[in-house]
Amino acid sequence: MTDIDGARLLESLRTLRTFGARDAGVVRPTYSDVDMAARRWLVETMIAAGLDAQIDGIGNVIGRSPNPGPAVVLGSHSDTQPEGGWLDGAMGVMYAIEVARALLADPDTAHLAVDVAAWADEEGTYASALGSHSFVGEITEAHLAAANAEGETVAEALERVGLVGVDPIRLEPDRHVAYLEAHIEQGPHLEASGNRIGVVTGIVGIAGATVRFRGEQNHAGTTPMPIRKDAAAALFEFGVHVRARFAQVAGPVSVWTIGNLGVHPGAESIVPGEAWCQVQYRDASADVMERFADTLAALVAEFDTTGPCAVSMERGDKGMAPVTMDATIVRAIGAAAERRIPDAWVEMPSGAGHDANTFAPHIPSGMLFIPSIGGVSHDFAEDSHDDDIVLGCQVFADAVVSHLDSL
Ligand SMILES: [Zn+2]
Repeated sequence: MTDIDGARLLESLRTLRTFGARDAGVVRPTYSDVDMAARRWLVETMIAAGLDAQIDGIGNVIGRSPNPGPAVVLGSHSDTQPEGGWLDGAMGVMYAIEVARALLADPDTAHLAVDVAAWADEEGTYASALGSHSFVGEITEAHLAAANAEGETVAEALERVGLVGVDPIRLEPDRHVAYLEAHIEQGPHLEASGNRIGVVTGIVGIAGATVRFRGEQNHAGTTPMPIRKDAAAALFEFGVHVRARFAQVAGPVSVWTIGNLGVHPGAESIVPGEAWCQVQYRDASADVMERFADTLAALVAEFDTTGPCAVSMERGDKGMAPVTMDATIVRAIGAAAERRIPDAWVEMPSGAGHDANTFAPHIPSGMLFIPSIGGVSHDFAEDSHDDDIVLGCQVFADAVVSHLDSL
């Protein structure tokens, strides 16, 4: 098995951190000056690793292996949240480069084709997973019209950074046989369970609905309890039922939330005539997601029938379908982890979205997680232990080699 160079990996990660470093974290939003400077440095680093590298028309940095396919695409994003950690995305990008560099330098693996990518705007400064959507050919007018907090659109940003007229680089179905991404967990499960590698089996879907309660607005002092049509009381009772009934159909790692609600007109001495709440649920299993959808619809129908308030719902349009990682790649990563750290790895779903969401419907995809200290991410304090960072890259490299060898 090819050894990656842990010291070289850590040094390159720390260099990438200098682009936008703030306290212990990084501020590197997509298409900012530091983001583009980081992308130019990534081009140089990929070329030094033996890849043919360039920034494409959407801002993705793509490093193509000189070898013929079948090729795997390894990558993650190099942009950050407005206040981001130094490893979110960056680690997966530097793993990809380190694996390509190590494999090309080893005569046993120098023939393997590993293409490397640093995607643009996974974090949604303009539009979530913009770069990976471009790579799979799913860019729409809506993507180009998406704006950042200052109101600059993607189209305007591309002009500002000089990428107008530069071709996008696309997935090549005849060449690219798999997408693998490494990432920090961004949650507490690996650390809490003492596992050092997480093999991602799927990425959770998100769905939900706004539920509306229509009663009768009236005087809070003179309206007798038996004849009230109190929309807020209906909402509260509904919330209690959601908690109980969702628990009956949930999977082991399902989560659900009523994170937003309101009553109208919202005054101490008025029985509310209207109320609403937003119910959101997440799970990696399409079956569980369907059970939640059915349960919610059934509850709404029951409350509407029983009264005293009319109840209706509107499904949200911002949902995300759950995706399943490729079983062969899951096994390859698990076997690689078992060889390096027997019994200290675990299969798990991802509670956060990643560029791998974009790839899974197109080519076999897989992800590897390493532990996040304290489960902290999207914060300057985000960090992981150096030995976990190095181990994760070695397991990632082993999995890439065994997957390519098996084709
Ligand atoms: Zn990320």
